[in-house]
Amino acid sequence: MSKEIQAIRGMNDCLPQDTPVWQYVEQMIRQTVNSYGYDEIRFPIVEMTELFKRSIGEVTDIVEKEMYTFADRNGDSLTLRPEGTACCVRAGIQNGLLYNQEQRLWYMGPMFRHERPQKGRYRQFHQFGLEVFGMQGPDIDAEVILVSARLWQQLGLTPYVRLELNSLGSNEARAAYRDKLVAYLEQHKELLDEDSQRRLYSNPLRVLDSKNPAMADMLAGAPQLLDHLDEDSKLHFAGLQARLQAAGIEFTINPRLVRGLDYYNKTVFEWVTTNLGSQGTVCAGGRYDGLVEQLGGKATPAVGFGLGLERLVLLLQSLPLLPQISNAADFYLMPLGDAAELAAVSVAEQLRLALPGKRVMLHCGGGNLKKQLKRADKSGAAIGLLLGDSELAAGQVTVKWLRADQPQQTVLIADLAAVLAQV
Ligand code: ATP
Ligand code: MG
Repeated sequence: MSKEIQAIRGMNDCLPQDTPVWQYVEQMIRQTVNSYGYDEIRFPIVEMTELFKRSIGEVTDIVEKEMYTFADRNGDSLTLRPEGTACCVRAGIQNGLLYNQEQRLWYMGPMFRHERPQKGRYRQFHQFGLEVFGMQGPDIDAEVILVSARLWQQLGLTPYVRLELNSLGSNEARAAYRDKLVAYLEQHKELLDEDSQRRLYSNPLRVLDSKNPAMADMLAGAPQLLDHLDEDSKLHFAGLQARLQAAGIEFTINPRLVRGLDYYNKTVFEWVTTNLGSQGTVCAGGRYDGLVEQLGGKATPAVGFGLGLERLVLLLQSLPLLPQISNAADFYLMPLGDAAELAAVSVAEQLRLALPGKRVMLHCGGGNLKKQLKRADKSGAAIGLLLGDSELAAGQVTVKWLRADQPQQTVLIADLAAVLAQV
């Protein structure tokens, strides 16, 4: 036997028993974004490496150590997309969707990060994201958050997630704050771990985000960004809070929420759950007014979020919330005999035409009634359809209930679709 080839670590198959849950989640997402008037955008999985370096930031976890980057045959440096926002902005600029326009966009698909695989953290994972362009007020920030809140509600998850908010202010306010933070951290240099020492000058705000318990007390005493906001950002933040309150969305303010990507300003938020252990952030986003210009477009305000679908599916599966989702067949057609086998193909085709949405399976591989009934049972079908040569001669099919104590019934082939439509 040849040696088996395994999938790449952290890149999972989604098996047939799990796809119904994914389809359910995807359908709820489509329904939700549609109800807010958002349009879908799709962009490539591979982009120029420069796109992510310039947007996410050189001194971030993603760019420093998580990207799948390779040289293609021309020698260009390409990267498997680690997130969607940069790609969406690139596509928007390139296709003239952004300047002087309002766009409410969403996307869904695989992302790639070379992280240590564990529950809720994979190397290929999937995100659903929203990106809105051309609106600068807190009203649209609130709407973006409301879309995510609506999705929790649709899925029954509202009691299991909570919203954390912060404001990063303007670039100028953040730069002034940065100096104060660096001065404070320098005073406590001996307490900084290796990552934080490295970031002290390159990306000090990220030090605030550290989960290292040994630094917790020191960080609790650090100056807070919220006390250093510019007037415009303060008003924006107050406006967002008022709108969320008016909409009945509960939140807490987390002054240390800074997010791991460099492009955010003003609003940042995360939806977190305690049901997934340390991988508790299900959805994260914020405003990124500078990014379009940074990537070569005309200045355009923007806000969005990314939501991890694996974490969402894990959360759903950890709770008794999933509706009965089945991929069972509805009807299993069993031809018995050579003539019946030929005729059955068109009987099945007719049913599929007349009953869209129903799963009509035609037995393949012949065999006697017992064998075919066994397959019918395995298919999960509620109803078996028997087509023997004698039935065929009479233009009939025997309808047999496989999971209910109900007498079988003989039906004319011509009437079959109409009868099955009633069951
Ligand atoms: P984390 O703090 O968990 O590393 P992040 O800040 O790197 O998350 P974002 O870049 O904001 O995450 O991505 C948005 C969402 O995508 C996350 O909140 C999470 O639900 C999901 N996500 C991010 N990285 C992964 C991963 N490696 N595997 C599965 N889901 C992920
Ligand atoms: Mg991460």
